[in-house]
Amino acid sequence: MYGLGVLKGFGVTLKNFVRKPFTVQYPEERSVQHPRFRGQEFVWYEDRCTGCASCAKYCPLGIIRIVTDPDGGHEQEGGDYKVEVFDIDQGRCMYCGLCVEACPYDALHMGSTFEGATTRREDLVITMEVLNERPKHPSTWFRPQLEQQAVDPFGGAPVDSGDAGREAYRWHPKRSEDAPGGAGK
Ligand code: SF4
Ligand code: SF4
Repeated sequence: MYGLGVLKGFGVTLKNFVRKPFTVQYPEERSVQHPRFRGQEFVWYEDRCTGCASCAKYCPLGIIRIVTDPDGGHEQEGGDYKVEVFDIDQGRCMYCGLCVEACPYDALHMGSTFEGATTRREDLVITMEVLNERPKHPSTWFRPQLEQQAVDPFGGAPVDSGDAGREAYRWHPKRSEDAPGGAGK
């Protein structure tokens, strides 16, 4: 019956009218993200990075560019590399996180922000200089050690490179026991 359909329609309208909204008035308000949010602004620790390029190999889109010099100073321990270029083309990134999963040294972490918009595509390529300057607020995604430390990526203190890894630094080719943040700290 025609009239019944109208009433049902008004019923749906009324139900949604009193329902708490799911949306927020961005940018005045911001949605609260989960600590494991796979956000923008990758967090990279140069002193943890050996230049192994696992992250670049695992990236399905091939948007991580790494150039290394083989003289990293630890050739006797199996070799590591001096990283000369470490670029990520965030404009093409789908934030799958495979690069972070692939990093054996917990040098690369997903970020916790989402507001890196720009008007020029080339500005979305982040360099190692930019990565080094960024505050270290890694997402806890794929990083249970950060969850165990109750790291808050959104309001907590920056995470030191010595606290970013899964294990003590003793085994890390770039960090000696006496290095800042090393196992002997
Ligand atoms: S998050 Fe995915 S697409 Fe983005 S750089 Fe890492 S592996 Fe590549
Ligand atoms: S970020 Fe990790 S996976 Fe990528 S080159 Fe450095 S150590 Fe290797």
